Amino acid sequence: MKTPDAESRQLTNAAAADVSLITAECFGDTQPTFQGEGPSCGVPALFIRLSRCNLTCGWCDTKYTWDWHEFDPRKESTRQPVANLVAWALASAVELVVVTGGEPLLQQPALIPLVRGLLDGGKRVEFETNGTVAPDRALLVDGVRFNVSPKLSNSGVAKDRRIRPSALDAFAASGRAVFKFVTRTVAELDEIEALADQYGLAPVYVMPEGTTPERLVATTRLLADAVASRGWILTQRLHVLAFAETRGR
Ligand code: SF4
Repeated sequence: MKTPDAESRQLTNAAAADVSLITAECFGDTQPTFQGEGPSCGVPALFIRLSRCNLTCGWCDTKYTWDWHEFDPRKESTRQPVANLVAWALASAVELVVVTGGEPLLQQPALIPLVRGLLDGGKRVEFETNGTVAPDRALLVDGVRFNVSPKLSNSGVAKDRRIRPSALDAFAASGRAVFKFVTRTVAELDEIEALADQYGLAPVYVMPEGTTPERLVATTRLLADAVASRGWILTQRLHVLAFAETRGR
């Protein structure tokens, strides 16, 4: 007789075979790379980048996941069965799988069998999310972390689109989220503080905006003292420094 756990695993495996995710790219297997940002910065990682986003940040460096004026969705995305994505990740010895986008939580129902398959295979999972979609309870499990990046006014997106109070409340209460802010100026730290105070967002990571090493270094130096004096964490965009913004690294 099957245990409830074995039964639910079998159901999840069946679901994984049936469901799919609109995917932009998977990388980190043949050409190894690192998680470039946040608490796991520098840790070897596999990446599953999902296509589609609900925001339109001016400085977005993955417009090929959503900007169909500039890019062709038929060329930039494919539907991948979840079972194939799980098999792809499990074929690698790399433990950390970063699910990013675009905005991955737009496809949340299919993420549940994906996460179950990855965790069952011994992986850890980090989601990179813009914090506008509340996480399903089924994703709030050991082995999963959410790197939540609420967008500031520097994104050029209207506040009522980029700040969704109920979603931020859910992430803050989850105990499985960190909050990472793409920042250009010292003045923006006040905007971060207001959001952190209002929604109880902690820990706070500040990350310089930029797609060139020169810009990242300049902004890091601009921000460093002010971030340190607030007791926040300064993070980097290691992939830009290491690989010069090469796609798929
Ligand atoms: Fe790009 Fe992220 Fe903004 Fe979406 S939320 S537009 S993927 S930076």
